[in-house]
Amino acid sequence: MQISKKIAVVGSGLVGSLLAIYLRKAGHTVHVFDRSPDIRQIQFSGRSINLAMSNRGWKALDGVGVGDAVRAIAIPMDKRAIHLVDKLNFQNYGQEGESIYSISRGTLNRKMIDLAEAAGAEFFFEHKIWDVTLDDATLHIGETERGAWEDKKYDMVFGADGAFSRIRHRMQRQSMFDYSQEFLPIGYKELNIPANSDATHKLDKNSFHIWPRGEYMLIALPNLDGSFTCTLFMPFEGENSFASLKDQKEVEAFFEKNLPDTIDVIPKLTEDFFKNPTSTLVTMKCFPWTYEDKIALIGDACHAIVPFYGQGMNAGFEDISILYEMIEKYGDDWKTIFSEYQKSRKPNADAIAELSYRNFMEMSSKTADEKFLLQKKIEKSFSDKYPEKWIPLYSRVTFSDRPYAEALAIGDYQNAIMEEVLKMENIENIWDSEVVEKKILELLGEKG
Ligand SMILES: Cc1cc2nc3c(=O)[nH]c(=O)nc-3n(C[C@H](O)[C@H](O)[C@H](O)COP(=O)(O)OP(=O)(O)OC[C@H]3O[C@@H](n4cnc5c(N)ncnc54)[C@H](O)[C@@H]3O)c2cc1C
Repeated sequence: MQISKKIAVVGSGLVGSLLAIYLRKAGHTVHVFDRSPDIRQIQFSGRSINLAMSNRGWKALDGVGVGDAVRAIAIPMDKRAIHLVDKLNFQNYGQEGESIYSISRGTLNRKMIDLAEAAGAEFFFEHKIWDVTLDDATLHIGETERGAWEDKKYDMVFGADGAFSRIRHRMQRQSMFDYSQEFLPIGYKELNIPANSDATHKLDKNSFHIWPRGEYMLIALPNLDGSFTCTLFMPFEGENSFASLKDQKEVEAFFEKNLPDTIDVIPKLTEDFFKNPTSTLVTMKCFPWTYEDKIALIGDACHAIVPFYGQGMNAGFEDISILYEMIEKYGDDWKTIFSEYQKSRKPNADAIAELSYRNFMEMSSKTADEKFLLQKKIEKSFSDKYPEKWIPLYSRVTFSDRPYAEALAIGDYQNAIMEEVLKMENIENIWDSEVVEKKILELLGEKG
């Protein structure tokens, strides 16, 4: 058992509440602050934003014994359902039995706060943190930025306060603090596919649905109540853009022409389209993530990424697994714990940022591209035969806990091999043959 510390966690989001459970497990006093009201007391209007949980997320939840409580509110998705304009294709995500899981963000967050409270963490909602004094881990809390502030001193403070973190904001004012923020020219808007009257799903429940259309795409993830939450990703400006869809008629005509099989299943299309906000997507990178043995950033507060690999929360949860590994390794030496934590995580956070950025193209364009689908078939056939020689990139990111940076490097290497294979004559017809298998082995430097 470590020397018990008095620790503040700023942010009761998914990362802050799981971190609180881990810190309680390590024997510390934990106070969690959030500027918002208690999410458990708020009535939702039935809309539910959902997330895909995969291996890294489960590992962190299981590490503190709460995985099964979360599995009870999750729906497995073992494949992509790819809705082309004129047909529907299915593509398995991984090997038999491998799935990603759709979970409602609100339900998960409420559950995580319940679990953290049960573990002994104390929550302070409607507490806005405006600033922190780095040297002595003192939080400055108040109703308004210019009003009176209350000061609360801790042994250390974790900034789990999301992409626009106030704790990071203070750290940014030090010299030698690197920071970058990049918005995509693509925004997103939520739409809804309601349940059938008998609470069954209108589309296949165990699929991640995608309508890939090049510069824009629609996705849909299942909810427990039979509905699907859809997200339309689209440029802000240009020909097929949010700016180009100005009224009810234009939206209806656009969906009828480009997303015809959604017309019957999204009854409140235009109502939701104009009611729901269009939100932005940002990649944020920074370094260092820690200050002495006093302050550490975690989750989106130190690495906000675009959502196209479904890894933001998973990466934040993995931060906690690695932090806890360091706590177990270095005991009460918090300076070393913090410095080893950021050293281990930073290259991996950068790698998943890059992979997520690239994956927009894969989801929105390549899933509709014959050559890409052929590449996936070749990779799958080779990897089924030689699982130890070829783990596809998606599986390395999603169904493994090997470092993201390793997945990025090996993924690039495999892609170069596939480019050569796809150049083979008549590849469309011989893709499943021994010749192709031999070529891959040769390019891998193996004899087979
Ligand atoms: C459209 C979309 C889809 C996504 N899909 C996936 C997915 O499928 N899989 C996945 O793994 N990830 C996904 N993500 C990413 C995921 O949502 C985030 O990575 C995750 O929510 C980050 O959690 P967090 O706890 O670090 O931050 P947040 O969830 O942002 O929580 C921060 C908390 O801090 C509080 N806070 C902020 N400032 C203050 C302050 N000054 N004082 C007090 N409290 C404060 C906020 O109220 C909030 O509760 C998606 C993101 C988006 C935008």
